[in-house]
Amino acid sequence: KIRTRIAPSPTGFLHLGTARTALYSWAYARHYGGEFVLRIEDTDVARSTQDSVDQILQSMHWLGLNYDEGPIYQMQRLERYQAVIDQMLAAGTAYSCYCTPENLEAMKAAQEARGEKRLYDRTWRPAPGKVLPPVPAGVKPVIRFANPVDGVVSWDDLVKGPISISNTEIDDLIIQRADGVPTYNFAVVVDDWDMAISHVFRGDEHINNTPWQINMYRALGAALPQFGHLPVILGDDGQKLSKRRGAVAVSNYDEAGYLPEAMNNYLARLGWSHGDDELFSLDQMVQWFDGTHLSKSPAQWDAAKLAWVNAQHLKAMDDAVLASRVQPFLVKLGVTADERLTAICGLFKDRCETLVVLAKWVSAFYIEVVPNAEEKAQHVTDAVKPALALLADKLAVCDWDKASISAAIKEVLAATGLKMPHLAMPVRVLVMGTAQTPSLDAVLLLNKREKILACLQNA
Ligand code: GLU
Repeated sequence: KIRTRIAPSPTGFLHLGTARTALYSWAYARHYGGEFVLRIEDTDVARSTQDSVDQILQSMHWLGLNYDEGPIYQMQRLERYQAVIDQMLAAGTAYSCYCTPENLEAMKAAQEARGEKRLYDRTWRPAPGKVLPPVPAGVKPVIRFANPVDGVVSWDDLVKGPISISNTEIDDLIIQRADGVPTYNFAVVVDDWDMAISHVFRGDEHINNTPWQINMYRALGAALPQFGHLPVILGDDGQKLSKRRGAVAVSNYDEAGYLPEAMNNYLARLGWSHGDDELFSLDQMVQWFDGTHLSKSPAQWDAAKLAWVNAQHLKAMDDAVLASRVQPFLVKLGVTADERLTAICGLFKDRCETLVVLAKWVSAFYIEVVPNAEEKAQHVTDAVKPALALLADKLAVCDWDKASISAAIKEVLAATGLKMPHLAMPVRVLVMGTAQTPSLDAVLLLNKREKILACLQNA
């Protein structure tokens, strides 16, 4: 059975890179009718917070990446880790190490001085005939994994292809700290094993951890999952995408008015492709995402492209659905919408990159509009004011439907000899705040008659 997982550490928000890994893991499981697990890797107790957990769950929910199991918290599994540690100690695949941080520093400094790689020298690793140093009083040991001392660890990475690392390159990893809390590399193995994870997708910053993990699977007699290490996402400047250089939390994009549909679409394409298909739904991705066509090289974050993808999804969205999506943004603007909202969304959706922009347009129908000063000076001239007064008179009495509003506009044009733009521009500026709007009759129809009259008469 295909089982994938995402295993974020709750030391901050859900990062875009983690969201992409989650999306791929989720889509892979869904494509093959498998299961997707969410695990919270909270063993870094000092840096993990409930607030981060909440944010991560919220972002997963927003993206629509539903999980079949979880959230599972590592700190609730300490007993299980201890049992596996005990089993490994008994089997001799793990051992207690009493080196103090000072010992280790001295050891590593000496290695460095000799031009050697900094590796733990296995002082405390038992061996036949070897006499271990006396156990120092008052020092709590850490537990180390007895890594194989020779041979090569190899795996066929789902993304990067075959990878091999010699065991002489790696040392005996600490798998449990002196306070009894397991380290990442150990807990991840026990969990992926216990949770029967078949495919591990994660960022390629973990490639160096994988040989240790594979050695531990073998030491435990556990079946290996397949690994796929996804390349980093780079920012505009070619550096790894990071907080210092812009918005990297999924929640930033939620707040900025991006649609989860667009976010998933854009993230999917950062490191995976399906021919030339650029715009697609999550359902389509699930149909297509079979683990092939994953890119080996870093992806480049492109904010303008994301905005474009978002605009396309906005445009394609059902008006009523869009109305519900824009609602929270209206609340932030203090706008209470009415039954006109769906039609307003339909009228403006093809000119908005985000829900924030759409909400701003919608708000013009509900709260007092301040005309753009420059546009007002340009379009609302003394010459046009009599025509505006005449239009107000006609709109005051006409039926409120598109045909009647159009007729009223045409009568004013005929009576004053003005061309359409000369009338339409000032009316838009006064009623909507700017001249850049959809067609005048459509905009007027969706506005309230009294509001229009007040705007025209104010001029
Ligand atoms: N907690 C790890 C991280 O957030 C998970 C890595 C993994 O998927 O194995 O990087």
